[in-house]
Amino acid sequence: MIKWSISTEVFSLIILFILTLNFRERRWEKFSQRRIFRNCLYLSMGAVVLNILCTYFIVLANRIPVWIHMLCNSGYFLLIVAVSSVIAYYLCRLLYEHIYQKDGSKRFRLLLIVLYLLYALLILYNFQSGIIFYFDEQQNYQRGPLINIGYGVMLLQLFVLLMITLRNRRSIDPSMRKVMRILPPIILVLTGYQIIYKNVLFNGCIVVAANIILLLNFQSRGIEQDILTPSGNRNSLHQELLLRVGGKQHFQIVAISLQQYRSINQRYGVKRGDALLYRISLWLEQLVPKGKSFRMGNVEFALLVPYEDKTSADRLVETILTRFREPWVLDNVSITPHPVFAEFIYTDSGREEDADNILEILSFSLSLARTRKEHILRFDPSIYQKMAQQGQIIRLLQSAIKEERFEAWYQPIYNCHTGKLSTAEALLRMRDPQGNLISPGLFIPIAETNGFIDELTDIVMEQACSLLSDTAEDILESVSVNLSAQQLLNEDFIRKMNVLTERYNFKPERLCLEVTERVLSENPQKMQAIMKQLMQKGFRFALDDFGTGHSNLSLVLENDFSCIKLDHSLVQEYPENERSRFIVNTMLNMFHSLDCQLIVEGVERQIQAQALIAQGVKWIQGFYYARPMPKDSLLLLLDPVSKEDGTFHTDATACET
Ligand code: C2E
Ligand code: MG
Ligand code: MG
Repeated sequence: MIKWSISTEVFSLIILFILTLNFRERRWEKFSQRRIFRNCLYLSMGAVVLNILCTYFIVLANRIPVWIHMLCNSGYFLLIVAVSSVIAYYLCRLLYEHIYQKDGSKRFRLLLIVLYLLYALLILYNFQSGIIFYFDEQQNYQRGPLINIGYGVMLLQLFVLLMITLRNRRSIDPSMRKVMRILPPIILVLTGYQIIYKNVLFNGCIVVAANIILLLNFQSRGIEQDILTPSGNRNSLHQELLLRVGGKQHFQIVAISLQQYRSINQRYGVKRGDALLYRISLWLEQLVPKGKSFRMGNVEFALLVPYEDKTSADRLVETILTRFREPWVLDNVSITPHPVFAEFIYTDSGREEDADNILEILSFSLSLARTRKEHILRFDPSIYQKMAQQGQIIRLLQSAIKEERFEAWYQPIYNCHTGKLSTAEALLRMRDPQGNLISPGLFIPIAETNGFIDELTDIVMEQACSLLSDTAEDILESVSVNLSAQQLLNEDFIRKMNVLTERYNFKPERLCLEVTERVLSENPQKMQAIMKQLMQKGFRFALDDFGTGHSNLSLVLENDFSCIKLDHSLVQEYPENERSRFIVNTMLNMFHSLDCQLIVEGVERQIQAQALIAQGVKWIQGFYYARPMPKDSLLLLLDPVSKEDGTFHTDATACET
């Protein structure tokens, strides 16, 4: 009679038990892979228990009827191959995790089923033939010629899995590639050992080894999971992009960045803020069956889906936009975040992309989307040119700062009541090394998002203050300077302004600080607090480009702006266009009845100026009266001695054309 040692099986059972206890699913568990793994652990325990039982029955031998022996052992043979099939299926799912085309995975599943059915038929046939095992007349367990058939099935499964790994290695997660490097040799060695040392029960150890390796793989995956939401984290997005690009799989990414999230946290509490992020992430995660969501920044998400065609890409973007137009309801509280969107599509365009590149394009596209009225930037290959241009401008900004190639130009503002140009707006100009002027429309947005804007504001501010100190108030009443969000978020700005007023000795009332709605929306509370302190010192504030953003009237009423500047886009077709006439005249009436000072920007034609003056407009800034010009040209223009009638003239030599 064969003498079995079951100690290894008992040991395996204990370890499997510990693994099961330690395997906890996360509350947002959606991955069926994890469910498969959990079932795999249960099946493994069942198989080991049955093996121990069979061995015990064999020891009891004559006291147990043969049919029970046969049933028990057949059950074990079936179960152990079932375990190996489930593990193989599970591994295959993980190997295909980053591959959209899953035909190979389906074929492998079919192979597993067919193999298992054939094997089950063989086990049935074994009842009659004893081809795998049988019990002799003394009821002793005897091995048949096909006793190792189960190992054969397992090795065949392993071989096919290795083929799948080799074929798709560029799209297989590194942690899985590692599993496929470690698991086969371990299983081969253990199987070989079992075949040689037949009396030591070793199958449990093989199963335990496989399960431990898979569990470790899970843990390394846990590192890629976002801690707050069901989405993957930035690392896993990077990894996903790497694998998708590696396997040349076409995909679409929609990135979503939530603006002014700080105010959501302040208004609804951080807990609700977190709950909203969780809800958005879950919605994204469940939106497209093959899609994956990632939290790529604190309040930034990305949804990655396979790219099929333009129509489905458009549909996805529309679905996301539509959802974000609605509020998100959490515990009966409606929260409306302010998202901006960017899309990227990867196809075989012949461009060499890598994951870093794509992440860079996404964040660049988001920054462009922020400046757009519609708050979305759909993918367009011209983005590459824009990025290259941005790189060029960044280099120019760096060199221009070093070589002091910035100057403040001034655009005079016309006082319709006195007929004089008596104030001016400082507008920054940058020159390239050849001396050509570069428009601030090009470099200011880039300076704002790349950390140069403080330095640039310092340059304009210093020059504007020096102009105020050099020019008498009756010649130049005031100068206005544009601010970006960064200045109004930094308390040090107040100190800087105090230093400048002392150094240049001018009345703060002569300096007007221009801010836009967009600037104020970033962190309204903090900015308003800093604005208030500056207003108390006498500095004046103007709301610039009114009519381009939300045209938020409460912003006007809440803040003590000295004046509102109507954006030039409003007057482009004024007064000929009826719609424009209606909008501008209504705004003018409204602001006049609120007793707000108004400056209308962008007036280029006489007919515009005449119509505005007829509507009672006091201040006009536009090319019709004067273009931006260097300081010397401005002084020449404003100096009453050089003018015969005290009114302006427009022939200053160095004006912009
Ligand atoms: P803004 O503050 O609204 O400045 C007015 C812009 O309108 C100027 O463009 C000016 O040249 C232009 N403009 C004035 N009249 C007319 C007109 O009749 N027709 C047309 N088509 N345009 C007119 P510029 O100098 O190119 O500046 C563009 C923007 O760049 C400014 O808009 C401002 O937002 C920003 N910017 C300029 N300098 C600075 C600065 O020193 N700091 C900051 N943060 N932004 C600046
Ligand atoms: Mg301005
Ligand atoms: Mg403006």
